[in-house]
Amino acid sequence: MGKIKIKDILNGKYLQQEVTVKGWVRTFRSNRFIALNDGSCLTNLQIVVDFEALDEQTLKQITTGASIAARGVVVESLGKGQAYEIQTSEIEIIGVSDPEKYPLQPKKHSLEFLREIAHLRVRTNTFGAIYRVRHNLIYAVHKYFHEKGFFNVHTPIITGSDAEGAGEMFTVSALDLDHLPRTDDGQVDFSADFFGKHTNLTVSGQLEGETAALALTEIYTFGPTFRAENSNTSRHLAEFWMIEPEMAFYDLHDNMDLAEEFVKYLVSFALENCMDDLTFLNQRLADEEKQKPQHQRQEMGLLAQLRFVADNEFVRLTYTEAIDILRNAKPNKKKKFAYLIDEWGADLQSEHERYLVEKHFKKPVILYNYPASIKAFYMRLNQDGKTVAAMDVLFPGIGEIIGGSQREERYDVLVEKIKAIGIAEKDLWWYLDTRRFGTAPHSGFGLGFERLVQFITGMGNIRDVIPFPRTPGNAEF
Ligand code: ATP
Ligand code: MN
Repeated sequence: MGKIKIKDILNGKYLQQEVTVKGWVRTFRSNRFIALNDGSCLTNLQIVVDFEALDEQTLKQITTGASIAARGVVVESLGKGQAYEIQTSEIEIIGVSDPEKYPLQPKKHSLEFLREIAHLRVRTNTFGAIYRVRHNLIYAVHKYFHEKGFFNVHTPIITGSDAEGAGEMFTVSALDLDHLPRTDDGQVDFSADFFGKHTNLTVSGQLEGETAALALTEIYTFGPTFRAENSNTSRHLAEFWMIEPEMAFYDLHDNMDLAEEFVKYLVSFALENCMDDLTFLNQRLADEEKQKPQHQRQEMGLLAQLRFVADNEFVRLTYTEAIDILRNAKPNKKKKFAYLIDEWGADLQSEHERYLVEKHFKKPVILYNYPASIKAFYMRLNQDGKTVAAMDVLFPGIGEIIGGSQREERYDVLVEKIKAIGIAEKDLWWYLDTRRFGTAPHSGFGLGFERLVQFITGMGNIRDVIPFPRTPGNAEF
């Protein structure tokens, strides 16, 4: 029989059968009990070794971190803590690990320390759980859209459109930085570069996604996006993954309905398919909360919070209504907000978003109809002439998790807006073409995948929900 995954053994499939398992030793006690983990699930498999049958050398090499193969019969365990175990006299050491030097000791390590050894942290319970939950969510995203008849579209990662306007961009260049070609007026001459023009890493697949929606009706992208913003927060990465559905014949309200249904589906999918890992993460968070002073603790545990979001309607509120609430809010009157709200038109900071979600409504909130002046050029101008059909979904602990809008489908209005912000029409000729040939009302949004994973795993820092985080000053690994 071939190699069997520990998950399947613990599900009881192989009782009384002889199996081979391969994995990494978490602990080895009393020269007799190995806790083996192969990453297929959170729980270790107990392997009971007949140490008299093993040679001294093999016994010595069964150390934390080593990889081994074990062959034996699956039996019901008499010991506490596990239902099944393997009894064996056959152990093969595959890769030794010096227990003195192995950075992961069988004890609790801080998340900060684990970030420094991101190549090994996946071998801990916490990161194993996060990787598995993350995988399940990726699968759920595709399942959800596929079953609804949306098509997945790959949009370019290297983009030649300078006009996405969603943040600072990374230049992509093959020029020799020590000998840059210059134009007559001293600028870098990108016409001599690989693509014959200045190119960037994409900040969003939306504009290209729109072209596909205006033919396939309902599409989504799920790809890496890059922002060179120097915001060292627990919610921002320089490289992150974004899911961007784009739908023809959807207005703003259809868009909000889809966003709400989609995130609830993802939360429910995790609850149905990742319960072992989520139960572990729930406990991890509860332990972490206990370290905090009483008044800073979250009211709800992780699992309770996830169920709450899956089962309750989100609040929908216009920007104008939100400003009224914030203007009269205690932290505004007592000048506790870092940015005080006094006028309509003010951009909302994450402190305001979190106040609405965590203090005022105690529910996820969808804010919509924002002032045109604080939103992107492609959002549809409302009848009032001063707001646009934008919507942001705000989550507890996270703030903005989704940003979206109904897109401006009217050629003339779009051209006016492009001019007003100083983009040359010729830079967006292909985007404008979609409004010249069979334009249609359409909408879409972007869900930041890591913010979703943060919410579902209860991790406070976005650096801990992506295998190798990219942040200012950090591109190790
Ligand atoms: P924020 O105000 O939080 O910076 P944004 O307004 O720049 O967000 P959008 O441009 O609307 O965000 O992007 C859509 C979604 O992508 C956001 O709702 C968020 O979930 C996610 N997102 C945006 N920037 C980042 C980032 N730097 N790291 C991780 N996720 C991000
Ligand atoms: Mn941003």
